[in-house]
Amino acid sequence: MRVTLTFDNGPDVEGTPMVLSALAERGIPAVFFVVGQKADAHPELLAAASSAGHLIGNHTWSHSRPLGAAIEPGFAGAEIGRTQRAIGPYAEDPPLFRPVGAAPGAVIDDRLLDDEALNVLEAGGYTMALWNVVPHDWERPDDWSDGVLEQCKRLEHAVVVLHDGYPAGMGLLPDLLDALVSEGADFRTDFPRSCTPIVAGVAGSAVGPLVTPRAASR
Ligand SMILES: [Zn+2]
Repeated sequence: MRVTLTFDNGPDVEGTPMVLSALAERGIPAVFFVVGQKADAHPELLAAASSAGHLIGNHTWSHSRPLGAAIEPGFAGAEIGRTQRAIGPYAEDPPLFRPVGAAPGAVIDDRLLDDEALNVLEAGGYTMALWNVVPHDWERPDDWSDGVLEQCKRLEHAVVVLHDGYPAGMGLLPDLLDALVSEGADFRTDFPRSCTPIVAGVAGSAVGPLVTPRAASR
C-alpha cells in the first residue's frame, strides 16, 4: 500500500506543529503544499518542515479561487510566482505545485487552471500534483478519518489530501497514522503518474480537461 500524505493550506502556527510532531513520532515523510501569504509570514514553519525531511510545494498565494476562475490577466502568474519566492530555499527541484480545488470541495475539473497558469507551470518546470483521496477533514473535523484506510488499500498509490491549515481536524491524524503503519503502508513523497498531469514542466494529454479555455475565461 503506497501512501503519499499531503498537508495543504498552511503553514499554521497551531496545525503545522501538530502534524510535524505526529509525523516525527512515527518517522513518516510527507509533502506540505503551502499558501504563499502564510508561508511568507511563517518561514520558521517551512524551515521546521523542511529540516524534518518533508517536501514543500506551492499552493497559490491567496488560495482565494481556482486559477481557472481567474478574472484578470496576471492573476495566475502572480499567485504561483509570489508563492515560489516565499518558499525560497525550501523549494523542490523540479518545483511542486498543487492547484486550488474547485467547489464544492477539491473537485478536479477544468476550473483548476487557465491558459496563463498552464504557461507559467510549463515555463517554470513545475510538477503539478493532484490527489485521489479527499477525506474532507476541513468540513468534518471530528469524523473525517472514517474509511480513509480502506480507500488507501483500494488504490495502487494513494495521495491523501489533509490540511494542517485547518488544525481542528488534525486531532484525528495520530490514530490514522497508527492504522496505516499497522497495515504496513509504504509512506512516500512521490506521486503516481495518474496524479501528475504536468511533470517538470511537460504537460501530458491529461492536462487538457483541467484548463478553462481562453474564450470561456476571458
Ligand atoms: Zn487548498
